[in-house]
Amino acid sequence: MNNCIFCKIRDKEIAKEFTYEDEDVMVFPDIHPLKPIHLLVVPKIHVEDFLEFNDQELMSKVKKVINKMIKEQELADGRGYRVSANGGGAQIVKHAHFHVMGPISQTE
Ligand code: 5GP
Ligand code: ZN
Repeated sequence: MNNCIFCKIRDKEIAKEFTYEDEDVMVFPDIHPLKPIHLLVVPKIHVEDFLEFNDQELMSKVKKVINKMIKEQELADGRGYRVSANGGGAQIVKHAHFHVMGPISQTE
């Protein structure tokens, strides 16, 4: 049985307003934002973590969505952004995803 929270969000078993969605990728705000903008960019397919996320075509799609989010949230020109992935035991949710956060200054 798949008990993955992000799979449940993908399958609409948990109601969530998506910032962006297409057939391969979904984006929604982190429930505990660390920055004023804190989005999770999540491939819909369940892949355990970053190291196992090796589908180059899908990675390229995810990268395009990350770029789009950074631009749409107006983090590209001076406000600053951070893209990150936790893994190797640092991750809470074991379904590969990327954090897009901002604004971020150079001293952070
Ligand atoms: P990580 O696995 O990247 O270390 O952390 C998972 C992130 O997902 C955390 O920042 C946490 O706040 C967020 N998160 C966990 N469960 C939910 C949820 O049900 N909804 C949303 N929007 N975010 C979640
Ligand atoms: Zn999952």
